[in-house]
Amino acid sequence: MDRGIGSWPARRAFLSGDRTALVAGDRRITYTEFDRRTDQLARSLRDLGVRQGDRVAGLLLNSPAFLETMFATAKLGAVFVPMNLRLAPPEVSYLLADSGADVFVWSAPLAPVARAALTGEGIRVRHRVVVGGEPQDGETDFEALLSAGEPRALGTDVAGSDLSCLMYTSGTTGRPKGAMLTHDNHLWNVVNVLSFGRGLRESDVTVTVAPMFHIGGLGVHTLPLLYLGGTNVVLPSFDPAQTLAAMAEARATVQFLVPAMWAALTAVPDFDRHDLSALELAVTGGAPCPLPVIEFFQGKGLPFQEGFGMTETAPAVSILDADHVKEKAGSIGRALMHVEARIVDDDDRDVATDVVGELVVRGPNVFAGYWGLPEATAEAFRNGWFHTGDLGRMDAEGFVTLVDRKKDMIISGGENVYPIEVEQVLYRHPAVREVAVVGVPDPRWGETPVAVVALADGAQPDADGLLGYARERLAHFKCPSRVEFVPELPRNATGKVLKTTLRKEYGGSAESVQR
Ligand code: ATP
Ligand code: MG
Repeated sequence: MDRGIGSWPARRAFLSGDRTALVAGDRRITYTEFDRRTDQLARSLRDLGVRQGDRVAGLLLNSPAFLETMFATAKLGAVFVPMNLRLAPPEVSYLLADSGADVFVWSAPLAPVARAALTGEGIRVRHRVVVGGEPQDGETDFEALLSAGEPRALGTDVAGSDLSCLMYTSGTTGRPKGAMLTHDNHLWNVVNVLSFGRGLRESDVTVTVAPMFHIGGLGVHTLPLLYLGGTNVVLPSFDPAQTLAAMAEARATVQFLVPAMWAALTAVPDFDRHDLSALELAVTGGAPCPLPVIEFFQGKGLPFQEGFGMTETAPAVSILDADHVKEKAGSIGRALMHVEARIVDDDDRDVATDVVGELVVRGPNVFAGYWGLPEATAEAFRNGWFHTGDLGRMDAEGFVTLVDRKKDMIISGGENVYPIEVEQVLYRHPAVREVAVVGVPDPRWGETPVAVVALADGAQPDADGLLGYARERLAHFKCPSRVEFVPELPRNATGKVLKTTLRKEYGGSAESVQR
């Protein structure tokens, strides 16, 4: 019996087969078609020799092929390994080798990276599949492969505890780690996402443009809507104006974007010409969201909510629901229905209300461990709770306010400085388009905060002005000791600022000083 996510398409085809599952350009795929196509692809993959537990890697744009590969793989009981599209060939080689992938599927525009990666060492890929474009010798066309399969369910025995995906973390703090996500992890994430506030409905429509290789793009709305029978309008790449137009045209009712994407939407010149009146839920998460961005959307009457999630938790952990958005502004809300959250000290003892400690979580959405990294897994799960590496505090009602990542915290003259707090102050300065604060070594204070700023259009660099602005609003020890101006901040594919890069650049060390 299939107890995995691979059972969803057939149930949806049975319950609401004529509803549209996916829209991509002019293409519409109903649930009946999605089920049939994933049955076909699952059989073709099995005919290639793919067995339960084998890995199928994808370097895939947001596209129907991404979700078809993922669900066909699930129907087979194999493990899908989505890869970050911004990786360089040696990094893709590393992931292919690390995951031991047997099949590698890529979107045609990524062919140069995929083919270069396949020349790397330790790679066991036996089958190469190209979506669109011209397959070369030894490669198979995705549609041809799919069409060769019989449209009949495989009926594989898949347990909820079997692995469904190896999702690599964003690599914000170091080398990406393969988080082993089970079928049940995805299912419980869906349950969690459905059980807060407005929830989600079969009639919901979303624009899937946040990258699906990242758990945010996949787990916040896309998988829950495929479970419920909703519609995903899939965009292959992010362009702010096109995304806004797609949301208006599709009459998107729910929308997840990472903070950098929402921020980019605020700068679309004719924003107000787009009709977003269908939007009932706008969600962000995955990185701290600048307060002016939240205020921009709330000021337009849009229901904008921030949540907290991680690859390791498939991803949703908490959300600030609409009822508390104003009263608890700045918080990431309360833990969702089936997530337990605590704030602990370095010895894993609960800290008091409103005291900063590490956020640890437990629940059926929490992953099964890091692939091939037993020590990192044991360290993360010490005392039975998953340690997020994020620092925060919890109020008496259970609302959590995140202060920063443990690795990004700065200790200056013995005082803890949370860069996010400093950044949120500087974000309000009109000359600042984006800002990151990092700790760099300092002979007197041990570490000192440096603000790296990208200026707003037309603004002049005025370090003293910015430092004065910070000093009026922050305790002296939190104020940056210098400002560096850059055209833009280095970010990874999900829009997170790469602070390790900034620390190396401005302080000569990738790690923050104490840790
Ligand atoms: P790596 O683990 O490889 O260093 P990563 O932690 O960025 O990368 P993800 O799993 O994509 O990989 O991101 C989870 C992290 O994102 C969280 O641990 C937290 O630091 C950050 N995050 C998520 N949501 C929020 C939020 N609402 N506000 C602030 N930070 C957030
Ligand atoms: Mg992480």
